[in-house]
Amino acid sequence: MCCDINGNVSRVKGYECSSYAVMNSGGTAYKRPVIRKILMTGRFLFMTDVIESTTDIKGEIIMADVQITFPDGAEKSFPVNVTPLEIAKSISSSLAKKAVSGKLNGQYVGMNDAMTTGGNFELITKDDEEGLQLLRHSVSHLLAQALNRLYPDQIHYGVGPFIANGFYYDTDKVEGNQISVDQFPEIEKMMKRIVKENLPIVSREISRDEALEMFKNDPYKIELINDLPADEHISIAVQGEHVELDRGGLVPSTGWIKHFKLTSVAGAYWRGKSSNPMLQRIYGTAFWNADDLDAEMKRRAEAKERDHRKIGADQDLFFTSQEVGSGLAVWMPNGAAIRRTLERYIVDREVQDGYQHVYTPVLSNLNLYKQSGHWDHYRDDMFPPMDMGDGEFLELRPMNCPSHIMVYKHHQRSYRDLPFRVAELGMMHRYEKSGALTGLSRVREMTLNDGHTFVMLDQIEDEFKKILQLMVDVYKDFDITDYRFRLSYRDPKNTEKYFDDDEMWEKAQRMLKGAMDDMDLEYFEAEGEAAFYGPKLDVQIKTALGGEETLSTIQLDFLLPERFDVTYVGSDGELHRPVMIHRGIISTMERFTAYLTEMYKGAFPTWLAPHQVRIIPVNREAHGEFAQALTDRLVKQDIRADYDGRNEKLGYLIRNAQSLKIPYTLVIGDEEVSNDTVTIRRFGSRDTSVKSVDQFETDLLADIANHSRALDTLEKAVKGE
Ligand SMILES: [Zn+2]
Repeated sequence: MCCDINGNVSRVKGYECSSYAVMNSGGTAYKRPVIRKILMTGRFLFMTDVIESTTDIKGEIIMADVQITFPDGAEKSFPVNVTPLEIAKSISSSLAKKAVSGKLNGQYVGMNDAMTTGGNFELITKDDEEGLQLLRHSVSHLLAQALNRLYPDQIHYGVGPFIANGFYYDTDKVEGNQISVDQFPEIEKMMKRIVKENLPIVSREISRDEALEMFKNDPYKIELINDLPADEHISIAVQGEHVELDRGGLVPSTGWIKHFKLTSVAGAYWRGKSSNPMLQRIYGTAFWNADDLDAEMKRRAEAKERDHRKIGADQDLFFTSQEVGSGLAVWMPNGAAIRRTLERYIVDREVQDGYQHVYTPVLSNLNLYKQSGHWDHYRDDMFPPMDMGDGEFLELRPMNCPSHIMVYKHHQRSYRDLPFRVAELGMMHRYEKSGALTGLSRVREMTLNDGHTFVMLDQIEDEFKKILQLMVDVYKDFDITDYRFRLSYRDPKNTEKYFDDDEMWEKAQRMLKGAMDDMDLEYFEAEGEAAFYGPKLDVQIKTALGGEETLSTIQLDFLLPERFDVTYVGSDGELHRPVMIHRGIISTMERFTAYLTEMYKGAFPTWLAPHQVRIIPVNREAHGEFAQALTDRLVKQDIRADYDGRNEKLGYLIRNAQSLKIPYTLVIGDEEVSNDTVTIRRFGSRDTSVKSVDQFETDLLADIANHSRALDTLEKAVKGE
């Protein structure tokens, strides 16, 4: 009947029991009547109510133990109604101090909640990532409570979860007057006051009717309650006068919350649907100690400074607008200069490496993507097909691979043609969700530095090495050093998930690993990360915002050659199937430009800078002609030089050039005109130096030609060292 539900708790639903438990706590034996409701709400929830009246009590005295298994497998029994806090104390007082919450059979149990059943038990502590998540979740409740005190009855509440690096709470304001960052100090002050009150945070279960009554003034909460399945139990978290519809996973009291900060506010559709009302989402973050919070705020300030959208606007590199269309970037002349440099650079490198560059259509017959499998597996990310009215359907391509297969298949190839390398700056379209669109890094139209090579099986390793070498060389030119290689294999326990050719997989995976070892490159291996069609190598880079993403990739593909019946004539005169290698070195022009902008913090090395040289006359009348002639001379050398003859003070013009992070600013005065010299100010340096015009031009061309890699040497040359 009661308290004996060890074992498969998931079978227990709405289990109700009354007990008269005897507890021994802190050496004092006492008796108390309790009613416990053990409920499944997708999680376990323990009522903390202690019913003082004995009217409901059946009078039984249960002497029960709860049997607990710790994560290390150790087992221990405790008296029924033991709390996670008591368990923590029984282990050590230091553990009791840092334990945030208990977790029984995967469900949170508050530190002061009595446990009537055992099972797998763990303590979530301040040292765990999960502990930090519980803290942040709790701060979101604290925020809502503070808002409610500051603006009583004016705000409707949505949801307030933890997220990576912080938390948010979605609210609206009935009065229509929105919360802005200006109100943050006032809100934070109120939050701190509630922290001081050290209100216990208690979870409990209520009936649906109670819930509907309790939240009757909160239409969003009512919607959430009504959306719960009929048999779902409803739980709330209570702190002082504030009640949240919540499934638990919270700190024991508001006093636990000390170091937090509200960071921003943005619009967000209720439940992420654009047909729903727009709410305001207040973001914040929290840590257990002040140093961590400080470090995070510094990191965020730095990330904001580096954000390519901010720099993109400051330097007029690109824009996106609803008027043009969501996720469709317009490259302004400055951004276009960077992109043009990237495109010329990578195409030249690839041609030197034996690639044949092509141009193929940005839209193709839909059948091509049916044959490739994209239409079956990838349709949600593709634009809708265009019905041409004559039976033909055209599709904006989501990938370039089928186009390159057409290039290969246009002629019968023989073993002597392999490896056959085809490449293109291929424009593609993907229907990214509007919420995911971000500056240049997530767009709907993108141009990929794409390439495919067709090889015989025993050429895979050499070709793989060749591509890797190209990658590593290219990274050097961009000064990319913070990356790691990931070799992705199929999951050996789940081979039916992958293209079916065990021998090919084994051989290919061995080859990739062998190549990495041969080249002395460090890598980590990830089983189960391979594509359906073959193993791959990804290059993972750190982004300025602290995330990790794939910059480059080399993917073996056994499948597409089958689907398109791609063949070559072997030395035996028979037709054979080549292996296809998909590879991207510098990703899309959009993402790579975003990445570089953030990595360089807008201070592009000379060879990439939109403006390489700015030439400013001290006096337009006296020095303008010389300055203009010098500009023309440099431009003829394919140098991005410009003449700034605006009628402004010299100091202003120099500061302006520095704020745009232009590598070289030349000031032309009497001395320069009569000696045919330039006075040079390098970006980031307070010193100036003087050189003959000829010498400057020679050094500048060298700077550009070597991808600005020998900056130190040049710097010294500039300073005459
Ligand atoms: Zn491809």
